[in-house]
Amino acid sequence: MAKRMRERRTDDEFRSTDNRRRANSHKIERKNNELKTDKNKRRAEVLRTERHNEGFKAQENERRANAHKIERENKEFRKEENEGRAEALRVERQNEEFRAQDNERRLKSLKVKREEEDYKEEERRGNALRLHNTRDKYRNNFDAMKSNYESKIKEGLTHICSCCGGLWFAYSIREYTVEMLAKKGLKKEFIDTVCYLKHEIIELCTTCRKHIMSNKIPNIALSNGLAFYKIPDCLKILTELEERLISPRIPFMVIRTLGFSKQFGLKGNLVNVPMNVDTNVSILPRSFRDTYTIQLKLMRQMKNKNAFIYETIRPKVVHTAVKYLK
Ligand SMILES: [Zn+2]
Repeated sequence: MAKRMRERRTDDEFRSTDNRRRANSHKIERKNNELKTDKNKRRAEVLRTERHNEGFKAQENERRANAHKIERENKEFRKEENEGRAEALRVERQNEEFRAQDNERRLKSLKVKREEEDYKEEERRGNALRLHNTRDKYRNNFDAMKSNYESKIKEGLTHICSCCGGLWFAYSIREYTVEMLAKKGLKKEFIDTVCYLKHEIIELCTTCRKHIMSNKIPNIALSNGLAFYKIPDCLKILTELEERLISPRIPFMVIRTLGFSKQFGLKGNLVNVPMNVDTNVSILPRSFRDTYTIQLKLMRQMKNKNAFIYETIRPKVVHTAVKYLK
């Protein structure tokens, strides 16, 4: 009995120590939990202060505003582009519609006319005649063929580009007026510089057209300093011998036709004879009136009997030309 009691007591003791231990561990756990919540609170606090931080906030806002702006600009640009495209399409569609309508109208009127017997007959006759003419044009009529050919080759490179001064066939040239170019959105000053040759109707070749329409001055434009200088009147009126009197060099060369094409070419040496213009001019008689003329011979070699050029020259004109060239 006593033994059992003892055992019970030890059991009780054991239980109580066990209970105490458990309570202790609970306490520690509770403390740990409190610690954790504390830590979390602190972290939240730090984050909040950071967010409240003015500099950080401003930077963030700016970044967002920038992104918005870029997006908006892109949208606007896209909108404008779309609008432009729509407009172009609209104009094109109108044209097409207009053309289709026009064709239909014409077809209708022709149909109505054809219903009349007279018109039908006349049209048939006209068609037959035209067919006959084209068939027989070159078979029986050599003269017609020849004249047709001649009229076509007469229309050679006769068109001058107003921008580059090049010579072109009619089919390479498009004709414009200043108003037409201005309507295409080109500035008045630009048109003025680009169209060097001032005519009522501006003729432009393909190359110049391409550049001008994209608002660029063509490389070969005369306004790039490629134009020849205008020959003044005092030099224009000089005769062959008068020209030679005032030129510092007289070139001698043999020019012959080349083969069957009759183009010209140099043959043999070119001899360049230097002249003294001062002596030439000072030898001319000094007292003269405007109408005064003298006869002059240009000798190729003094031992020759015949002169190379024999002309009547006007000393007054020669003097004026020399004065201009000086
Ligand atoms: Zn041109």
